[in-house]
Amino acid sequence: MNMDRSWMNHNGVKDRQKLEYIAGVNELLHFAFTRKSDGTMIKCPCLNFRLVLSQNRKIMHCHILIYGIDPTYNPW
Ligand SMILES: [Zn+2]
Repeated sequence: MNMDRSWMNHNGVKDRQKLEYIAGVNELLHFAFTRKSDGTMIKCPCLNFRLVLSQNRKIMHCHILIYGIDPTYNPW
């Protein structure tokens, strides 16, 4: 899938409040959790956990907004 990944390089809390970042996060989560049942946990790509711990969609969404995302993460 060919999609814009530039939002992943946003640094700092201010940048992560921008619409393009939030839209990118939503698109990523939508893709990552497609065909998964509610409550499914998958490895979290946020900068705090870097795919070490699994989280559900809601928590992962918070993490990526708060901590940022590993720009090398590529679920596509
Ligand atoms: Zn996380």
